[in-house]
Amino acid sequence: MRENALKLKNMLTTPKQIVITTHRGPDGDAMGSSLAMMHLLKQFGHHVYLITPNSYAEFLHWMPGNDDVIIFDENKKEAQEITANADLIFLMDFSHISRIADYSATVSDSSATKVLIDHHQNPDTSIAEIIFSDTEACSTAQLVYEVIEAMDFTNHITKAIAECLYVGIMTDTGSFKYSCTTAKTHHIIAELIAAGAENAKIHDLVYDNSSANRMKLLGYCLNEKLLLYPENNSAIISLTAEELEQFNFKKGDTEGIVNYALAIKGIIFATFIAEKDGMVKLSLRSKGDFKVNEIASKYFKGGGHMNAAGGISEVSVDETIIVTENIIKKYKNDLNNQNN
Ligand code: 5GP
Ligand code: MN
Repeated sequence: MRENALKLKNMLTTPKQIVITTHRGPDGDAMGSSLAMMHLLKQFGHHVYLITPNSYAEFLHWMPGNDDVIIFDENKKEAQEITANADLIFLMDFSHISRIADYSATVSDSSATKVLIDHHQNPDTSIAEIIFSDTEACSTAQLVYEVIEAMDFTNHITKAIAECLYVGIMTDTGSFKYSCTTAKTHHIIAELIAAGAENAKIHDLVYDNSSANRMKLLGYCLNEKLLLYPENNSAIISLTAEELEQFNFKKGDTEGIVNYALAIKGIIFATFIAEKDGMVKLSLRSKGDFKVNEIASKYFKGGGHMNAAGGISEVSVDETIIVTENIIKKYKNDLNNQNN
């Protein structure tokens, strides 16, 4: 860490054109880490651009720096030009180049030095020259804090940086409740609050700011769409494009729904299936040592963490339910032998 941090610090001594990017469908950690890095680098006189592959949930739009974000899908030409001329590209919160989807060729083709900051399993180390990878870290935002600390830049943590990092850590730890949350995480959070992050305000803006439609969609999922397999401690919730349409779906509206299935007593494996953007997306969650990232990579071209993973299905929502039911049956021994 320290050696890489000093290498990076050295590269930052002269003004550079810098691109920061993160994975498709950016979540709170992706945006928090990336925006925090943007604010930090701007302080040193660099030209910094944050380019996301596509758009993201409205509950993240209040974050400082949001108005400067360039969305690749909507501004291809501009994003390609900026990326081609970049000296340095930061790859935040993903471990494989395929996670930046249609933007990946542009990034791969750029001759810029690449810096990876990420906490996902099995990083593809060929995608960057400088790598900060810690698969134990609860969030990329925590790792960004540690990189800032290792560069001796903690005195540069402004209120904006503190708020962005707070969002990243808060969202990726399920508000500090997942087992990846450590004493160190809480120490960092304490520093961020001391640097100006208004914790109550941030929780409110992210979690208590839903449209009525979103809450009704959640009610519909739990009341009408919850499939329970108590004999195998599993649950599935699914939504078709038509159902999403009925609730005037906006990006981010389905985030977190899968966790309600996992909140049911006895359930240790929950799957949420939704048809979005012409694709069938899955969100997998588990408790204990049932490894959903292995399920995601084996059956759904995806990946993630042991207890939170995602992927895509090539078949319809109904067929994906059957595929998932077969997975539940296949893994019934693992699902019944958990120490929960
Ligand atoms: P979510 O269910 O919130 O979309 O994603 C949970 C986690 O699964 C993410 O933090 C990410 O690590 C992983 N993930 C989600 N979708 C994909 C995917 O399509 N491919 C891979 N490799 N990982 C994914
Ligand atoms: Mn993350």
